[in-house]
Amino acid sequence: MNIILFGPPGAGKGTQAKNLVEKLNGFQISTGDILRNEIKMDTEIGKKIINNMNEGKFVNDEIVNELIKKVLFNPQKKDNLIFDGYPRSISQAKNLEKLLKDTNQKIDFIFFLNVDKETIIKRIEKRKIQESRSDDELDTILKRYDTYMHTTKPVLDFYNKNSNFYELDGALEIEEITTKINDFLTV
Ligand code: AMP
Repeated sequence: MNIILFGPPGAGKGTQAKNLVEKLNGFQISTGDILRNEIKMDTEIGKKIINNMNEGKFVNDEIVNELIKKVLFNPQKKDNLIFDGYPRSISQAKNLEKLLKDTNQKIDFIFFLNVDKETIIKRIEKRKIQESRSDDELDTILKRYDTYMHTTKPVLDFYNKNSNFYELDGALEIEEITTKINDFLTV
């Protein structure tokens, strides 16, 4: 089963992705984690993306799409993907469509975790203390939220007419969201 978790930064995509990984024995595809790892390992890609990442800006599509391509073409992960943070633009959504077609896969569920700006700010400030992420400063959070509104939210138009699209209240408690997602999976 392939699932997309969609929503603004701080909506709880990563948390729900971990639950789904456990439940389905799947693979969490967090482009944020993949990119942070490139920086940690000080790779060529890492050197190219560090400034954009720290400033809360998007990493260029070419780099992200290439990393995602490797994932889609990995036979061990086929039909077992939990996307967390991809696609984040219309062009990435189109790229994903193509890769799914090329690898004979489809998306089974799209869960949109919808949360308002104030809740996000509170959550990310808490995460900053827990995880000390360099892109969790308040002005960076606000920039990331603006980018979400301008570039990522329009991706909803790409998916929200699909019968496998479900909108959830991302302000609910983690456990409540997990239960709702699990219920949809068993319908
Ligand atoms: P995340 O961990 O999903 O909040 O992502 C952290 C940062 O990684 C983002 O603010 C972007 O700089 C970068 N990033 C993650 N996913 C993508 C993506 N699909 N496209 C472009 N940049 C991304």
